[in-house]
Amino acid sequence: MTQIYDYLMVGAGPAGMAAAIEASHAGLKVLVLDQAATAGGQIYRNVSHASAAQQQVLGPDYGLGKPLLKAFMAAPCDYQPLAQVWNIEPHAQGFTVAALIDGRSVSFVASDLLIVNGAMERPMAVAGWEKPGVMTAGAGQILLKASALLPKQVVLAGSGPLLLLLAHQYRAAGVTITALLDTTPRSNYWRAMPWLLAGLSMPKQLFKGVWLSLVQRIRVPYFSNVTDINIVGNAEVKAVRFMVAGKEYEVPTNLVLLHQGIVAQTQMAQTLACKQEWSDAKQCWQTQVAEAGQTSVPGVQVAGDAGAIGGAQLAQLEGRLAAMARVKQSCTHSSWARKMAYLALSWRIRQLHWARGLVDRLYQPAPWLSTPTGTTVVCRCEQISAAEITDIAKAGCAGVNQLKAFSRAGMGPCQGRQCGLNLGYLVAQAQGRPMAQVEPLSVRPPLSPINLGQLAQAIDL
Ligand SMILES: Cc1cc2nc3c(=O)[nH]c(=O)nc-3n(C[C@H](O)[C@H](O)[C@H](O)COP(=O)(O)OP(=O)(O)OC[C@H]3O[C@@H](n4cnc5c(N)ncnc54)[C@H](O)[C@@H]3O)c2cc1C
Repeated sequence: MTQIYDYLMVGAGPAGMAAAIEASHAGLKVLVLDQAATAGGQIYRNVSHASAAQQQVLGPDYGLGKPLLKAFMAAPCDYQPLAQVWNIEPHAQGFTVAALIDGRSVSFVASDLLIVNGAMERPMAVAGWEKPGVMTAGAGQILLKASALLPKQVVLAGSGPLLLLLAHQYRAAGVTITALLDTTPRSNYWRAMPWLLAGLSMPKQLFKGVWLSLVQRIRVPYFSNVTDINIVGNAEVKAVRFMVAGKEYEVPTNLVLLHQGIVAQTQMAQTLACKQEWSDAKQCWQTQVAEAGQTSVPGVQVAGDAGAIGGAQLAQLEGRLAAMARVKQSCTHSSWARKMAYLALSWRIRQLHWARGLVDRLYQPAPWLSTPTGTTVVCRCEQISAAEITDIAKAGCAGVNQLKAFSRAGMGPCQGRQCGLNLGYLVAQAQGRPMAQVEPLSVRPPLSPINLGQLAQAIDL
């Protein structure tokens, strides 16, 4: 007989682990699914197995995940690693969650869901980004955290805290950074200024950010206000060309790591028809949530970076709050101490979101990156250029979903995760509409590729 969980979490990052600890100790039957081999999420990836040398290079914040991980592993919940969720749908008793485990699809049933699958890097569609030898900074960091793999030399390009952090970690590991191309527009510094007070409410993080930014400017060949990045080479990358204040530069390299911030992964919530909203501050779609991560669909909560990007500390608090709210539903009585703890937690979460306002404004993507032009490939799966997309948008397509039907952009294996935002920006620009009025790409299962053999061996637990 199928066993039914009270509460199922997709994701064992800080948000998922904190929620599982809270809910399982309160007596709920909890299951956590995560596609990674070990719990920890993006920030604490592989922290339980990383060597001393890896930990030294990754810095003290990496080690902060250990107590949380220990508490999670000791919690009375079921945890299934290496489980990639590819579909979620409503079920008579809640929801069915299908995950690829050991090469076959396994389905689980739960009455309530917490989507805590985190963020992905904002795609950076520059000329040549589809070439071998181009990856994201996050991918470079995953290789370092999971497998202690390092390049000999690299060019880092883009904007945002993770790029600066990786530069710092690479330098500590002895990697040659041939150049760091910072695409943060000067105007962003002015835009962020009114949020300085918010940033000052988290002085440790602010100081770390400023220090990371200054140290790279001194220690590596650093170019600021970079535009028009063009990655050149045929079978392999040979160099990066770019402009600074009207002057063209070329730097030889065989590896370029791109990064321009991270955006919430909304696809899972979208398959369940949870309402989405455009965030002007974060320049991405987000799942609309009320108190404690409750979405527009009863029984579905979203927390952590999957809801709104806020960092590990906020993710952990949001996961815990979401679980407290779910536990409250099952209890007829809630003690005063619990009520006070709930209120204190919601207050702290609001404060941290406000403090995040500085980072959000400072690292908004440069307009030339949001709306690429000419032959720059926007949809890598289907090889559709910016010019083709702009032509269709100018011809009057109703939105990105009609554009997808006309051009196949967003129809490939990545299901539009890599091009969806750029498609929206290009439609908005061509039609003079604000992004909030251009709908997000609609999502259909599978959320990640699954083959027929795996589907044929599907089992229900
Ligand atoms: C590539 C990358 C690297 C980062 N590195 C750092 C860093 O070094 N320092 C830092 O301060 N912040 C980093 N961040 C930011 C970081 O995401 C947050 O600070 C924090 O980890 C958010 O916690 P979370 O629990 O919300 O999500 P995450 O930590 O992202 O956890 C989400 C979990 O969901 C799982 N998941 C996702 N999709 C599926 C699926 N379909 N099926 C099953 N499981 C799934 C993932 O494997 C992951 O374990 C990084 C972000 C990214 C995208």
